[in-house]
Amino acid sequence: MKLTEFSIIDTFFTKQKVKRSDVFVGIGDDCAITKVPKNYRLVTTVDTMVAGMHFLNDTPAAAIGHKIAAVSLSDLAAMGAIPAWATLAITLPKANSKWLKQFCQGLFTILKKYNVQLIGGNTTAGPLTITSQISGFVPNKKALLRSSAKIGDLIYVTGTLGDAGLALQLLHKQKSLNTKDKKFLIQRLQYPEPRVKEGQQLLKIAHAAIDISDGLAADLSHILYNSNVGATLFIEDLPLSAALKNNTSPFTAWKFALTSGDDYELCITIPPHLKSAVTKFNNKFSCGLKQIGIIEKKPGLRLQLQDKTFSLTKLGYEHFSR
Ligand code: ADP
Ligand code: MG
Repeated sequence: MKLTEFSIIDTFFTKQKVKRSDVFVGIGDDCAITKVPKNYRLVTTVDTMVAGMHFLNDTPAAAIGHKIAAVSLSDLAAMGAIPAWATLAITLPKANSKWLKQFCQGLFTILKKYNVQLIGGNTTAGPLTITSQISGFVPNKKALLRSSAKIGDLIYVTGTLGDAGLALQLLHKQKSLNTKDKKFLIQRLQYPEPRVKEGQQLLKIAHAAIDISDGLAADLSHILYNSNVGATLFIEDLPLSAALKNNTSPFTAWKFALTSGDDYELCITIPPHLKSAVTKFNNKFSCGLKQIGIIEKKPGLRLQLQDKTFSLTKLGYEHFSR
């Protein structure tokens, strides 16, 4: 059967399990119609992934489907929002049933996990490009912003950092590692787990938050700039996976943790008197929160290693070249 634009939509994109009661009109009309609950605000984000730019051309279709939703869900997580609806714009070089089936399997699995309904989209021919918009809601005036960090806040991150960066290097260099580590790292790159429930919990305790998509140093710098503060990070406290540590020197591992993107962990600032809430969080969520630094008045990002303080570039030149 030859696939046309409409048979693609019908065969693949209408076959989802999630049916939300706040969707009045979903796929099939000119627009979707939805309802935001009373006393909540609508929160919306959009991301694009281009083949060869944002993922390698041989990436499994299921991983692409997972990741396009995961990156937007991660943005919602960073605001503390509850995800609800997605739209999907997909540009395909050719209609390949097997590819589309696997893409939808990856996409719908993660959307179902977070109770997100696909409510519309656009299907076109051209170089492989995928855009997804996901909306959700957050209680009035409660969202976690980049601009709310306060001097004296402690800086925390979820999970481990740098895994996706090393995975990308492995795929480029076709390096072989022990299979267990390699599997773990590639899973971290291709199937990032957005910290959605964690973000909702952090709404109660964090001042500021951002998700780590471009690398900790770059993303934390957005918080610092927007909040008009500075920070010191304690390099030896950066959370690193065993797979990253087993396969790099400490300096290379720190470099990945500070500068490589695609981790989709959360970086948050929390006032020091809420340490007991952090302990509770760590009992509830397996990714945990690790304290890595402190918000200070002096602008800029400083890195501290033992008793020495460096700027990121200085640390780069002096240590990472080893
Ligand atoms: P229009 O021309 O009015 O924009 P289309 O003919 O492009 O509508 O699409 C028909 C319906 O299918 C619309 O409801 C649209 O939102 C939905 N749709 C199209 N492509 C996708 C897709 N990739 N994923 C989900 N829904 C889609
Ligand atoms: Mg129309």
